[in-house]
Amino acid sequence: MTDTMFANDVAARDAADPLAHFRERFHLRDGLIYLDGNSLGALPKATGERLARVVADEWGEGLITSWLGASWSTAPRRIGDKIARLLGANPGEIVASDSTSVNIFKALTAALSLRHERSVILSEATNFPTDVYMMQGIEAFSGGRVKAMTVAPDAVVDALSEDVAVLLLTQVHYKSGRVRDMAAITRRAHEVGALVVWDLSHSAGAIPVDLNGANADFAIGCGYKYLNGGPGAPAYLFAAARHHAATPVLSGWFGHARPFAFEEDYDPAAGIERFQCGTPPVLGLAALEVGVDLLLEADMAELRRKSLALGDLFIERMAPLCDAYGFTLASVAEHAARGSQVAYAHPQGYQIVQALKEFDVIADFRAPDILRFGLTPLYLGYGDVVEAVARLERVCATRAWDKPQYHERAAVT
Ligand SMILES: *Cc1c(COP(=O)(O)O)cnc(C)c1O
Repeated sequence: MTDTMFANDVAARDAADPLAHFRERFHLRDGLIYLDGNSLGALPKATGERLARVVADEWGEGLITSWLGASWSTAPRRIGDKIARLLGANPGEIVASDSTSVNIFKALTAALSLRHERSVILSEATNFPTDVYMMQGIEAFSGGRVKAMTVAPDAVVDALSEDVAVLLLTQVHYKSGRVRDMAAITRRAHEVGALVVWDLSHSAGAIPVDLNGANADFAIGCGYKYLNGGPGAPAYLFAAARHHAATPVLSGWFGHARPFAFEEDYDPAAGIERFQCGTPPVLGLAALEVGVDLLLEADMAELRRKSLALGDLFIERMAPLCDAYGFTLASVAEHAARGSQVAYAHPQGYQIVQALKEFDVIADFRAPDILRFGLTPLYLGYGDVVEAVARLERVCATRAWDKPQYHERAAVT
């Protein structure tokens, strides 16, 4: 295909894209190609207006009456029910609250309460660090009764044994984007009597998820990645209805059956509300709801189709750069095992990601050598992917990355 034919083909794909109209719903500076929506989702235009209203009307005018008058107190449950529609869960099985790390603690300890006689929390060693750190904190707090155990990624299923109380796995790996088979792994865990906590941080809003179809036990995930809930957005926690008797270890008053009765003793709410802890972050929840509502307007099957097509195009355009400049694909090319991102390894990965910013492309770097490109079908087109790789090619051809300032690592990558 000639260059012109190729350019026309890409333009035609963008013109025929049924999701293209979502882009104008986001605030994105002209010229910028944002390939980091898997780390911090873009800002929906409606968010500022919603926050201004919550601040001025609900907080400023309504003051404390807004807990009921503006439905602040039920927001975690209401938004949880919306997230449930993205994840194959039922209403009343998800609550939006706290951070992902805190929800990992809540889900793991709830699962442990259902498996008192067992001692092991199992995960893969390359899981997102906070997941493993939270396991290690529980081990330390338990005085050694609970063991945090990690094994190589491919050894997880074989490590399932009757000692394992709970398996903690991330469905879409944060670096490679590799997708785990949720239904098959859950089945294997259940065969040995273990429960599973799925981390859906890179799944929700990125790939179709069917928690109840997979007979999942617990799940948690971020609000600020593909859900576009904003920096530090509240996270969410899923507990299958059959596990709602699990003991909440973070037994705060918002998880009480009657928080405003101010009773002396803790009595957890019957349903998913027991997994709340303290006062909900109303402003953060309002922003999260805008992001979730926007995503619910899109057809998830269409979203997945486009995400894979963007990934295929990215990988195709990168092939010559792999040969010429030494990039190695670090994601699985196969569709079933690929999330909504593509990763490459390169020894100068950090510097290249920094230099790309000069060319108005934002991607990210994950140690030791991974360049991560997030593909967000709601605000990224085929032309963007082609242009991003062209700019990356320029970074390599001009050695724009080889500058002293890029050899110092910043605190946040
Ligand atoms: C982003 C991410 C987190 C982040 O946890 P926070 O508590 O929100 O900082 C946790 N787990 C995974 C797998 C992630 O990708």
